[in-house]
Amino acid sequence: MIQRYFYTLLLIFSLASCSQGSSDHDWPVHGLNHRADRFSPLQQINTETVQQLGLAWFFDLQTDRGQEATPIMQDGVLYFSSAYNVVYAIDARNGHLIWRYDPQVMAASARSCCGPVSRGVAVSKDRVLVAALDGRVISLDKKTGRVQWQVQTIDPANPLAENYSITGAPRIVKDMVLIGNGGAEFGSRGYVTAYAIADGAKRWRFYTVPGQPGRPDNEASDDILAKVSNTWAGEYWKYGGGGTAWDTIEFDPELNMVFIGTGNGSPWNHQMRSSGMGDNLFLSSIVAVDADSGEYRWHFQTTPADAWDYTATQNMIMTDLEIEGKTRKVLLQAPKNGFFYVLDRVTGEFISGENFVNVSWADGLDASTGRPLEKSSARYYRTGQPTFQFPSSGGGHNWPPMAYSPNTGLVYIPAQDVGMPFGAAKEEQVIGAYTTGVAMHAGGALDEASKKALYDGMRGYLIAWDPKTQREVWRVEQQAPFNGGVLATAGGLVIAGNAAREIVVYDAQSGHKLWSFDAQTGVLAPPITYSLDGKQYIAVLAGWGGGWPLTGGVMALQAGNSIGPNRLLVFSLDGAKRLPSFEPEITPAESIVSTPPSSVLANEGAPLYARYCLRCHGTGVVSAGAYPDLRRSSIVMSEAFDHIVLGGALVDKGMPSFKDKLNENQLKALQAFIALRSYEDFGTNPSTPENNQEN
Ligand code: CA
Repeated sequence: MIQRYFYTLLLIFSLASCSQGSSDHDWPVHGLNHRADRFSPLQQINTETVQQLGLAWFFDLQTDRGQEATPIMQDGVLYFSSAYNVVYAIDARNGHLIWRYDPQVMAASARSCCGPVSRGVAVSKDRVLVAALDGRVISLDKKTGRVQWQVQTIDPANPLAENYSITGAPRIVKDMVLIGNGGAEFGSRGYVTAYAIADGAKRWRFYTVPGQPGRPDNEASDDILAKVSNTWAGEYWKYGGGGTAWDTIEFDPELNMVFIGTGNGSPWNHQMRSSGMGDNLFLSSIVAVDADSGEYRWHFQTTPADAWDYTATQNMIMTDLEIEGKTRKVLLQAPKNGFFYVLDRVTGEFISGENFVNVSWADGLDASTGRPLEKSSARYYRTGQPTFQFPSSGGGHNWPPMAYSPNTGLVYIPAQDVGMPFGAAKEEQVIGAYTTGVAMHAGGALDEASKKALYDGMRGYLIAWDPKTQREVWRVEQQAPFNGGVLATAGGLVIAGNAAREIVVYDAQSGHKLWSFDAQTGVLAPPITYSLDGKQYIAVLAGWGGGWPLTGGVMALQAGNSIGPNRLLVFSLDGAKRLPSFEPEITPAESIVSTPPSSVLANEGAPLYARYCLRCHGTGVVSAGAYPDLRRSSIVMSEAFDHIVLGGALVDKGMPSFKDKLNENQLKALQAFIALRSYEDFGTNPSTPENNQEN
């Protein structure tokens, strides 16, 4: 104890002495640097000192809709986007608000498959660039937050325009800002656009999949798409085809190349999308383009003919690795399909790949091409048999970024084993609704044994992976799948939040847990670190959201209720702040009906629920996200339900109107299905402690 006291004193002295003239250390771009390795050279917080780590300050965000952003820190100011793309500029020393900008996108929130989340902003010398859910890129004055210019990246004449959204962070490449979009679950065609930072003038656009044959776009992608259009069949353009670049876009200044990670097919079902034929380039691929012209350089397709939402949008790390005696410029990615890839980023050549989680759809990769050796059972639309497959559409690794430490030579991956049934949808697909061509189960009551079986197959890990040997070095098992993005530091640390409401510091060599903090909410966003006046800080946006908590239902409650106050939490070695105490609100677990509804009507409501409601209110009507748990909402049985679902009474709270999609009879069926689920869970045995536990 005394020793620790002296050590702290010593540290304070050393902090004071090095504050003079020591250089500040920013977090200037999304992945920290052009390698996007999220490895910081800072080491004041290290394996020895981490026990002194404490909360320096925090900033309340007044939303419960989820946080995914990587904050940017430049010249003493933190810039980040919260839910609904609300942008904050905050003093990085003390958390004082400098400005706040709200782009007013509430009405557009239903366009996003996975909540009104935002993965961050880009910051130039004098501007903050944010991309909004409704498709705009907005340039803000760095000092004041005032709008300088804005462009709409989605052409209103595009028949699929309403299906696009943006959740990704824009990237600055030279004097341009680059942005993609999402929406492949609703019917959309992916593209990335480059705009001049100065005035928003368009420089180039690269479409990731072909459009209708014989109709060139007059864009940078025309030539290459004409060449790969023979990898498509059928009338794919009606659904858009997919390939949306909704997250990762990276720039290698030395090669003058931009690497685009592309998403899944739209719809997922390859039979429906492309008559079950062709690889469908450039779905689920990494595509390299020239930074100045946007013209194609190379591509590598991780999942040919994707049929499972196996996106390759996940973060990429650019580094040099010594492979068979030669230094190679490599690109590392762990996409949703469960394989870890090492590619040559000059040529796109496949170097190696191995599965880092349970993969049941392929027997590995072809050693020379990297093409997956698929199992025949995986193509559910051909076999006519649904198959329970690992990974699920959520992926072995999703958007929470992995990090790479050149000191340990290890990549730290927030990974999971979650399976799901893939089967062809029987009902007709509605473009603009949840249009996957895969049967979506609305879900029903689960007995304890089924719940246990489900949970036993579902696991979350932090995996330390050696990219040279393609082997796991250690893994830490988490309480539940879907955990936070990762930061690695020269202090020998790996730092990540998790679904079980903690922020944890691990030893980068061994994976031993060195320190943890109760964040009062699940954490998905990756931590960053910076130093100011000689003091190192760690900052992380805490808040639970995104696809898994919204769609997962009871499965997403494996670590308990992860919903809590959304905040920016900032730590330092002398931090001594405490969070106010927090008790999650308990809603009574009472059935909203006293007798079970007509099962005929409820059965009609189930597919409607799956198509229109499940994405936010959860499988089985069990809400594990911040949206109301409809099983517990008496509004469902009142007249207000009509006003909300059809009338749009809660549009300004983020609940859209379904007037164009549902009629009065369908609304009654939907109501019956929700009532049935409420009765199944609470009707016969109301308010047992177990029922309450879920909340
Ligand atoms: Ca997707």
